[in-house]
Amino acid sequence: MFRKILIANRGEIAVRMIRACREMGISSVAVFSQADRASLHVQLADEAYEIGPAAARESYLNIEKLMDVARRTQCDALHPGYGFLAENPALPRACAEASITFIGPSAEAMERLGSKTSGRQVAKRANVPTVRGTLDPIEKIEDARRLASEFGFPILLKAVAGGGGKGMRLVQSAAEFDSAWRDAGSEAFNAFGDSRLYIEKYLVEPRHIEIQIFGDQHGSVIALGERECSVQRRHQKVIEESPSPVMDDSLRRAMCRAAVSLAREADYSNAGTVEFLVDANRNFYFLEVNTRLQVEHPVTEAVTGLDLVKMQIRAAAGEPLAFAWQELRPRGHAIECRIYAEDPANNFFPSPGRITSLRVPSGTGVRIDEGVYEGWTVPMDYDPLLAKLVVWAENRGEAIARMHRALDEYFVGGIKTNINLFREILSDQQFIRAEFHTHWLDAWISHHSAEVAPDPLAEEAALVAALAFHADHKHAATPPPAATHLASRLRAERRRELLDRVPQR
Ligand code: ADP
Repeated sequence: MFRKILIANRGEIAVRMIRACREMGISSVAVFSQADRASLHVQLADEAYEIGPAAARESYLNIEKLMDVARRTQCDALHPGYGFLAENPALPRACAEASITFIGPSAEAMERLGSKTSGRQVAKRANVPTVRGTLDPIEKIEDARRLASEFGFPILLKAVAGGGGKGMRLVQSAAEFDSAWRDAGSEAFNAFGDSRLYIEKYLVEPRHIEIQIFGDQHGSVIALGERECSVQRRHQKVIEESPSPVMDDSLRRAMCRAAVSLAREADYSNAGTVEFLVDANRNFYFLEVNTRLQVEHPVTEAVTGLDLVKMQIRAAAGEPLAFAWQELRPRGHAIECRIYAEDPANNFFPSPGRITSLRVPSGTGVRIDEGVYEGWTVPMDYDPLLAKLVVWAENRGEAIARMHRALDEYFVGGIKTNINLFREILSDQQFIRAEFHTHWLDAWISHHSAEVAPDPLAEEAALVAALAFHADHKHAATPPPAATHLASRLRAERRRELLDRVPQR
């Protein structure tokens, strides 16, 4: 087994990996940018080294600097987490050159599945259904225009190098085609340095359901069940759950089988995720493979009882898979909410800043993977994911009730978060009946924005009252939920201003 692992990431996922190392008796080495000197992952690791300025290009994305720390500290393995370099084959290659084990798939498997079009070709070879569209990048706009009308509008233009919803454009008609092609191409170029696009038929109201796969280095690949990720804002997952409320045994078996044959076709090892869209008739279509750990991996861990990060480390060290898929006994229901420093009332604008007070939920069935602490300043330089709140319960109804309870306990002061948005989504009857698809939340948000937008005067009056109550109880161990809830919706300066108006008793 490894002695020391370089944690090539930051924030909550770095913390998650450091914790797994600690439990396995493996030392962890953190790296950090100048903006992250005081980060939680730096405090929790056994060793930590600065690798450059805040700009990710000059720190977390700089392979040279990562390898330099790994060599100097004599790490024998490196874990990339997700984001940053996690899906860049240059990183496993650099690791191989330095005789450091990369915890993840091989560079070749990453390449085979790395671009959306090459992934579609692998799916085709493995006889896995794909969304109708092109298998190759399209060079000329004239060809693209012709293909689009052949497939029939609406179509989706997608970046070959795509990720995070970037370089994706919905085109409803031929008239919109040319400008969408230009916009998608330049967005893809800015995000990935690759402007190539391809076309997919746009599925109306699909679900996003993905299969967690796992392979060892001895040829075993298994599927660990599904995650339902249809609740998305602008093609980005917001709530994930397992099992999917629409799943039954025969669909699950078919999707797991498809995911495993695709992974075998690509000679895949370690953790990966095969993403599918599922239509109203329960047909499923391959979307892409994420060749890494996913943000939403804890919901799979909660229902299977597995630890995916430890499994990744063991598999990278050459250990064979310790069980067959038939032995899996998934239990209960898990839901994850992605807690972001952002302002839903202001078009989800990121809300970095100092966390002036923090109370995190706990208790039965609650897990929180976080990278923050009270007094820490959330930097503006990175993705504003603060934490993942995960609950587990016997069934979906109880999991929703438990998530409500956990959200009510959660208080982050000083910055805006989307905690309250989750309360509202989880109270929605359609959500409760699991009647949603990938465009559902966007429609929900635009429908609710009018009623969510507060009347400023009424809100201010309520805040002054709440803060007065808060000030009155400030020596109490826990502030009243109404006060914390309202106070959390204010900027820090505005809160101080209002506090000054509260009569001191
Ligand atoms: P990215 O890698 O940029 O996140 P994906 O291919 O994984 O892009 O797609 C992200 C989301 O975009 C999907 O979960 C779904 O909501 C939507 N989407 C992608 N392709 C299609 C399609 N052909 N039809 C309808 N929706 C799609």
